[in-house]
Amino acid sequence: MLKQRFSDNAKQMRNSEIREFFKLTEKPEIISFAGGFPSKECLPSEEIREVSSRLLMEAEEEMLQYSATEGQKDLREYIVDFMAQKKIDVGIENIMITSGAQQGLDLVSKIFINPGDKVITEAPSYVGGLGAIRNYQGDIISIKVDENGLRLDLLEEKLKELTKRGQSVKFIYLVADFNNPTGLSLAIERRKELLKLAKKYEFLILEDDPYSDLRYKGIEKPNIKSLDKEDHVIYLGSFSKIFIPGIRVGWVIAAEEIIQKLILAKQSTDLCSNSMGQKLVTTCGREGIIDDQIKKLRQLYCSRRDMMMKSLKEYFPSEVRWTEPEGGFYTWVQLPTFLNSKDLLFKAIEENVAYVSGTAFSNNQGQNAFRLSFSQPTLDEIEEGIYRLGKIIKKELNSSRVRNQRCIK
Ligand code: PMP
Repeated sequence: MLKQRFSDNAKQMRNSEIREFFKLTEKPEIISFAGGFPSKECLPSEEIREVSSRLLMEAEEEMLQYSATEGQKDLREYIVDFMAQKKIDVGIENIMITSGAQQGLDLVSKIFINPGDKVITEAPSYVGGLGAIRNYQGDIISIKVDENGLRLDLLEEKLKELTKRGQSVKFIYLVADFNNPTGLSLAIERRKELLKLAKKYEFLILEDDPYSDLRYKGIEKPNIKSLDKEDHVIYLGSFSKIFIPGIRVGWVIAAEEIIQKLILAKQSTDLCSNSMGQKLVTTCGREGIIDDQIKKLRQLYCSRRDMMMKSLKEYFPSEVRWTEPEGGFYTWVQLPTFLNSKDLLFKAIEENVAYVSGTAFSNNQGQNAFRLSFSQPTLDEIEEGIYRLGKIIKKELNSSRVRNQRCIK
């Protein structure tokens, strides 16, 4: 009875495989490569304790009162400077503070998507981005990626086909730097080309960027937003991965007209983002604590990334492929097509090791792939966890070979 009363939107909402899965990985003995959580050893607890008690004395009202829907002015001013380091030139009127980048994904979907509207995503793509688009009944078109990110040849083919049918695309959602789940980045030439396509076919680009400050190797790539001279890009930033996720502070950058509409959408969602969190970010940002944290995190995650790459090489069989990320939290593992990553996951959990299977990140694909996150486990745990996974995969490969031989006989 109650079921029928839910809205059409609510009826088609799906459980995120990742959230469900966390329940299984909460056992302390599990080595988890599942969550995209910052490392708990590196959370800046001391600094937060000191700054927040000082702020409660010096700026009690700003900490404890409601704040403007678009966000505290001093935080938006800090973000203007933070973005200038990335050569993204904006004013505070182009910025709205969100409760994490996730709220940005939701609000952008809310103001742009009518049921059935076409939205393009990478395949595979961030599960929370897909969820936000689906919640507003967007029609997701997935475009494959290669080692240089989104395949623009396939994108243009799709855009031509849609144009022929008289259809258009509302926006394209992508994580251009150290994608979640693949760890891959979009090549510079493709960033420029994508902007040209956005102009030609008149769609917006939603650039979700929680990871670009966490680069460990290679040469920095300009954010798509920094190349955008005509307001085709809506940019989402977040302090979750580079500072702390618990305060839920992110931001959107867009043309003023879009920001004004987002403010209206946010007003009926949460009135304003966490005031204490905003004040804390501004102060820690201005005092250099966030920059120091980014430096520490780069070092820590770089060593974990290297250990994961080394262990994969050592313990995984040659039939398995994986990406070699230059930053971020993730690597994407591809098994031979006859192996199923979800089936394998149950065996992995029996051995106290966990990952997220690939189907979470796409529309009916990724059955033979999975995401490994190297941000949380220690170096020893990474080596041990990958060793255990390697053993399980080798055993599965052997038993399917035996099964095949039996069939041939
Ligand atoms: N986008 C991507 C690509 C992410 O990986 C995440 C978090 N895992 C988010 C957005 C949401 O981050 P936030 O904590 O800022 O809401």
